[in-house]
Amino acid sequence: MSLPILPSGQKFSCCQCGSCCSKIRGMMPAEDAAFMKEMAYGKMPLVQLIPLEKISFPLYDWEAKRFMGWQHDANVDAKIRPSRAIFDLNTNKAIIATYSMDSDACPFLKNSKCSIYDKKRAYICRLFPFNRTPFLDVGERLRKENLFGTCGGMKSVLPHIPESKSKMIAHLQAAFPDGSFENAVQHDIVIEWLNSTVVDLMRKKIVRPAMNYPYEFLLKRINNAEKIDFTDFLVGSGYMPLEEKDRLIEGFDSNSGAKRKITEFIESC
Ligand code: SF4
Ligand code: SF4
Repeated sequence: MSLPILPSGQKFSCCQCGSCCSKIRGMMPAEDAAFMKEMAYGKMPLVQLIPLEKISFPLYDWEAKRFMGWQHDANVDAKIRPSRAIFDLNTNKAIIATYSMDSDACPFLKNSKCSIYDKKRAYICRLFPFNRTPFLDVGERLRKENLFGTCGGMKSVLPHIPESKSKMIAHLQAAFPDGSFENAVQHDIVIEWLNSTVVDLMRKKIVRPAMNYPYEFLLKRINNAEKIDFTDFLVGSGYMPLEEKDRLIEGFDSNSGAKRKITEFIESC
């Protein structure tokens, strides 16, 4: 199958209205929220450090480092705090996997415009209007309406998206020339990479996560512990050399995994 040629009216165009950045807390689908409430507060290796209702956009550690630098350029306090961590019983360190901005609206939003729009912003900034991709199996029938958050730019785009996955993927690749579809697919890949790397670290006994402790006790230990970013820990623990970490992040930034996945899928149809 090849990419369809779509008229411009059927292609997404972000008007930079800023609406998706003006409310960055509580954007989680209800079924994800129920799972998080049950599992994410101490029953899994990665522990949520922020109450469910306060959770905002996640920033991976390398994204958070960039945002911390840009907040000075943009003259804002981005209130970037650790949001998910492993408490490692081997080293007694808190390994920070993600950060988030402790704010209702994104602090970088000024006069309804993103003040760092020209930068390589976080995946979560660049994947909207997608909430999820058709590649993610959430155990329910694929419905195109469930893939997107609320965005005025979708009005003319959504009706033309095919219902079947085999046609949908090629259509989405053609209908989102801003790259948001590719960014959303790459974001899925980063989530999978993070989860599988945590499992591999545990299997190799490089990490021994604290789990099933009373949450308040665990949170206190994490708050008081020496902290290290996840990807820095991978290098410091000898799990991967620095050059490999840099290559990995470059690969994430260039969406190389997403490009491959989308192309392979389209060619297989
Ligand atoms: S993605 Fe949609 S809601 Fe967000 S700024 Fe663009 S047009 Fe507005
Ligand atoms: S950094 Fe920019 S694009 Fe990302 S959430 Fe903030 S205002 Fe929106």
